[in-house]
Amino acid sequence: MSKKIKRIGVLTSGGDAPGMNAAIRAVVRTGIYHGLEVFGIMRGYTGMVEDDIIPLENRSVANIIQRGGTILKTARCMEFMEYEGRKKAFDNLSKRGIDGLVIIGGDGSFRGAQIFSSEFNIPCIGLPGTIDKDIAGTDFTIGFDTAVNTAVEAIDKVRDTADAHDRLFIIEVMGRDAGYIALHSGIATGAENILIPEKKTNLNDILQSLEEKEKRKKLVNLIIVAEGDEFGANEIAGHISQRLPKLEVRVCILGHIQRGGSPTCMDRLLASRMGYHAVESLVEGRHNVFVGIVNNKMNYTALNEAVKKKQRINEDWMNIVKILAT
Ligand code: ADP
Repeated sequence: MSKKIKRIGVLTSGGDAPGMNAAIRAVVRTGIYHGLEVFGIMRGYTGMVEDDIIPLENRSVANIIQRGGTILKTARCMEFMEYEGRKKAFDNLSKRGIDGLVIIGGDGSFRGAQIFSSEFNIPCIGLPGTIDKDIAGTDFTIGFDTAVNTAVEAIDKVRDTADAHDRLFIIEVMGRDAGYIALHSGIATGAENILIPEKKTNLNDILQSLEEKEKRKKLVNLIIVAEGDEFGANEIAGHISQRLPKLEVRVCILGHIQRGGSPTCMDRLLASRMGYHAVESLVEGRHNVFVGIVNNKMNYTALNEAVKKKQRINEDWMNIVKILAT
């Protein structure tokens, strides 16, 4: 039997994602429900190393479920990559008696948690918080749905002006090495083409299909490019302008608006469920896993198996893009 946990720390680490606050709230309130003391660790692992740790009460997390960003702030912490940094972090937890951790972040943060836990025997539970949805072991990550909805709203607006001027817009969306934001938002906005890193981009096919559509006077407004695609939005625009000089081409890079804003219902729900199950896991003695969701059920993956999702994109999805854009 593992030792009963009495005090837990919660932190947000790596890239921020809308819904992190809802997850913090769920962790704090479930922890207090179970009679645990809960501490907030500021700026990811930096707060652990620099001893920036605050007690959290039920009231500390009031009125945050609807807010983007993270009240605990987030950071990347180089010191934590070294043993000396992690030892300092452990000492700072020990002096408060913190004997369990919930880490809300991406696969990098989970790797850090796994190493820390194996060195100092502190049980850790991960919650996948990233807009990129690039972690194996979960169908969704906290923040993805909000980021996609923000992208859809912005792309719809660009489409209005594209349509008014008969212009072609190449819109770049976020996602790091993953194309999920591009794929989801591109299908939802009726994009002509979606360029993602998981699929080799055939420039010639794109240009030929645009030429063919120009001949039959089909108006093409939108091409969505994932930031991780081998071609950047500007490069694609350059190739199109060269081959089809009559076409008016514009580039729009959506950028950081995709990280902010009030989380969607789905992200709040996901964060609340995951936060609750993170604490339940700690209490029940299920340690060093991250909580995912697969087929709408909680799914637990060992932290040391946390890897970036490099899945093959379902061919159906690419067919949908092609057929619906004719
Ligand atoms: P994400 O969690 O979004 O993937 P990063 O990969 O930047 O973001 O990781 C966030 C933080 O997790 C890093 O700044 C570092 O503090 C910690 N971390 C990541 N990888 C390791 C590792 N191999 N060892 C120790 N800490 C790590």
